[in-house]
Amino acid sequence: MTTHSITTLPQQIFRFAPSPSGYLHLGHAYSALYSWTQAQKNDAQFILRIEDIDTTRCRKEFAEAIYEDLSWLGLKWPDLPRVQSEHMDDYQQALTKLKDHNLLYPCFCTRKEIQNEVQQSGRAPHGPDGLIYPGTCRNLSLSQRERRIAQGDGYALRLNMARACPLAGELYWLDQRKGKIKATPEIFGDIVLARKDIHTSYHLSVTVDDALQNISCITRGTDLFEATHIHRLLQALLKLPVPTWHHHDLIHDDKGNRLAKRHNALAIRELREQGKNPDDIKKMVGLANEG
Ligand code: GLU
Repeated sequence: MTTHSITTLPQQIFRFAPSPSGYLHLGHAYSALYSWTQAQKNDAQFILRIEDIDTTRCRKEFAEAIYEDLSWLGLKWPDLPRVQSEHMDDYQQALTKLKDHNLLYPCFCTRKEIQNEVQQSGRAPHGPDGLIYPGTCRNLSLSQRERRIAQGDGYALRLNMARACPLAGELYWLDQRKGKIKATPEIFGDIVLARKDIHTSYHLSVTVDDALQNISCITRGTDLFEATHIHRLLQALLKLPVPTWHHHDLIHDDKGNRLAKRHNALAIRELREQGKNPDDIKKMVGLANEG
């Protein structure tokens, strides 16, 4: 009698991870539908995650509107999507790991102080997120740090790139459209991983969550292509699994402007009120024949 060993492939999981800081517009609909159709084609799971760590911009009513708009579009996801603001402990744990490796330092600078420092130095190197932090607080002594913390000065936590990159070694990531990409997180300089006000950051939370939720392919717009350099580095430092990525094109309006949340005319609910149906939306974003 022959015995057959059954090998099960790991479940593939795709996701859509919007921030509830406004109503979803056509660009979001494209991104959500793109991920959804990829999941269908690959016989994979599709999940929704609400990225609401930025309490200064995110609102519950926008999260409710996201559920409503996506359901109207015909998308389905497991009950109780992960809501980032309910999982701050997970991000704190990741920060602790990085602190234990001496990869973080407190930065007390205000935006104004950074600008002044840059002006005085006469050099203003820019990375994908704008001005590169000049490193002012990187060189504070332990006692200077302790004194400022003791006197109640607020601080962000920055990643010490000069330490982090050699520790992680040479890294690559796979983009389904562009192929194998060499990670160059150093182009960002010492990024903030925990903001002064919210004690975490987009980069940290998204990386932790994609790993915790076993996302196998991260689909998102090309506006976040460069951010993947950082996420790949964080995965290496935190010893997290490495998914693949697919950065899709962005949707533009008929004047060629990238859609943003302020373009309310193209909000899904607005289009709905104008009498459009989900198939019209799929046609408008060029996904009519998919899924
Ligand atoms: N929450 C982010 C946004 O709405 C997207 C995160 C991601 O897809 O990595 O822009």
